[in-house]
Amino acid sequence: MSKLIEHLIRPEIQSLGAYQVPDAAGLIKLDAMENPYTWPEGLRREWLEALQAVHLNRYPDPRGDELRATLRASMGIPDAMGLLLGNGSDELIQMLALAVARPGCRMLSLDPGFVMYRMIALFAGMEYVGVPLRAEDFSLDLPALLAAMAREQPAIVFIAYPNNPTGNLFDADAVVRIIEAAPGLIVLDEAYAPFTDRSFLPRLGDWPNLLVMRTLSKMGLAGLRLGYLAGPTEVLTEIDKLRLPYNIDVLTQVSAIFALRHREVLDEQTQRIRAERSRLFTELSGLDGVRPYPSETNFILLQVPAGRADELFESLKRSGVLVKNLDGTQLLLEGCLRVTVGRPEENDTFLAALESAL
Ligand SMILES: *Cc1c(COP(=O)(O)O)cnc(C)c1O
Repeated sequence: MSKLIEHLIRPEIQSLGAYQVPDAAGLIKLDAMENPYTWPEGLRREWLEALQAVHLNRYPDPRGDELRATLRASMGIPDAMGLLLGNGSDELIQMLALAVARPGCRMLSLDPGFVMYRMIALFAGMEYVGVPLRAEDFSLDLPALLAAMAREQPAIVFIAYPNNPTGNLFDADAVVRIIEAAPGLIVLDEAYAPFTDRSFLPRLGDWPNLLVMRTLSKMGLAGLRLGYLAGPTEVLTEIDKLRLPYNIDVLTQVSAIFALRHREVLDEQTQRIRAERSRLFTELSGLDGVRPYPSETNFILLQVPAGRADELFESLKRSGVLVKNLDGTQLLLEGCLRVTVGRPEENDTFLAALESAL
């Protein structure tokens, strides 16, 4: 490595691997929790008409006021709460971390959990503390969590509700205990809100430190990169100071407003994905040696026979199906693959390929 890099770049960044996005060309893409459905032809045409009115020579609305008003109405965000937009919820995680990071300060989350929390803690120079979930069913180990919070005094706690990559939803009463014990901010990451009936959004304001973060990505608009954070205005006013100017571009603002006005199309797709999730779970449960975990998301985590995850992952790929191989990536994920719920025919191809590979 060149002397320049060795001297200049922080060692923890040097030892990091870049975020890997595998090439999915020609494959059925069941690796990234995308909605597999497109819009009806008429709706696409209407959307393109809306885009024609956009002026690319001008900066976007700096605060995205119309989009925020549309989101508030569409998602039922309580009027008294603040609302902040991010270029994907990943950007919101980064803004939150940068706002609280000071030497020696900690971010706490769960293992296995969403990898960006740990990554962004490192970017921001925070210490990351991961508290293990219970090995049997990935539920919360409340005593361990409460003890870790008391010991580590995290400035910020992230809990994905439901969790990625395990797919389960944590017990709501346990989550309340965590909110009440958190010495700093607590963010409930509801990226999978469209695929579950539970949410803490209506409870915003009950605690001064609770924030709820969501994204349009899993709902069917991953290409737009739009996340949102709701919570007490007093907190969000501070976080907003870290937002880079014009972080939500004009095409995203116009497209998201358009999409939310036709939300019934996205909701109908979500319902189809939920129905397919049940079928996929049942079919996977019937395969010898495969253990699917219950899911409140648009993916299913499955454990395959010991030592065979890599081989099955490659075999699926040769059959034209890309899933996520999580084997050994985090605590408790030995022998685990994660499959996104696709269209029925895609799921059938996946199931047939997995069965024959087994
Ligand atoms: C996918 C995902 C996100 C990231 O969403 P973007 O808005 O696409 O950045 C955040 N949190 C969890 C738990 C996710 O699974």
